[in-house]
Amino acid sequence: SAQLIDGKARAAALRAEVAQGVAAFTAAHGRAPGLTVVLVGDDPASAVYVGSKGKATREAGMVSGEYRLPADTAEADLLALIAQLNADPAVDGILVQMPLPRHIDSDRVIAAIDPAKDVDGLHPVNTGLLVSGRKGLVPCTPSGCMLLITEAMGNIAGAEAVVIGRSILVGKPMAALLTNASATVTLAHSRTRDLAAHVARADIVVAAVGIPNMVQGDWIKPGACVIDVGINRIALPDGKSRLIGDVDFAAAASRAGWITPVPGGVGPMTIACLLANTLAAAHARA
Ligand code: NAD
Repeated sequence: SAQLIDGKARAAALRAEVAQGVAAFTAAHGRAPGLTVVLVGDDPASAVYVGSKGKATREAGMVSGEYRLPADTAEADLLALIAQLNADPAVDGILVQMPLPRHIDSDRVIAAIDPAKDVDGLHPVNTGLLVSGRKGLVPCTPSGCMLLITEAMGNIAGAEAVVIGRSILVGKPMAALLTNASATVTLAHSRTRDLAAHVARADIVVAAVGIPNMVQGDWIKPGACVIDVGINRIALPDGKSRLIGDVDFAAAASRAGWITPVPGGVGPMTIACLLANTLAAAHARA
């Protein structure tokens, strides 16, 4: 049965590494790296994410900035704030929490962020650098997945990889990272025919769909590395709820070589990679 990939422990190690790097940066430059998060509206899940990002930023020794704007904020006012943060030398990373209220064009907002401060890696310049295999800021969740995969498997050149889901946040950058590491990549999505057959060939499976237990255990190639990005909240009969992934964990674990749990797999890596991106952005601007 599969080796469990402990994302929580790996993330704690990465955060400790970043904290050391932050201390060195601060000693060398006389200021700590700064990450500013912008939240528009009062979506409770987004508010929790913003809170935990701020806490992790401070714990790493960085300066955490936070703007919580009302849901009816005009797009022009958000763009003006971004321009101000772009110009602020103390701000190394800018993160606008998604999703934005419907009256705001999120593409326009992302494009307004200085690519050198775009620690979410969503600006078209960073997307282009990633696809070109050049240095830029890479989206946090796929970078976290990549760290877990290469730590489990070592060199993945020539490996067959199937990524399920083609979002700009996870699936597409994940496919680019695997391609840059010389895996042979299949990017599957809602229109894919016979997903089971694709997954059955895969040495690496990354599921980023948002459908609980959609990847069946008996699809998995024996020995494969299974990375479950999905976070789905499931109601329990007793009125409580719990989080499960996109992969039928118990069945997949009996065939896989490595597998990430949900929670405690990919999730903790995302914030750790955000901190790493902020430190990298600070170094690049110093
Ligand atoms: P999304 O909704 O933007 O994209 C989902 C993708 O799944 C789409 O590309 C779609 O084509 C594909 N899809 C839908 N139905 C499918 C099917 N039947 N077969 C194959 N593909 C199908 O979602 P996202 O932002 O990429 O997030 C995916 C999941 O990952 C969600 O559960 C989300 O909560 C989770 N997530 C976790 C983290 C983390 O830090 N662990 C970060 C981001 C997202």
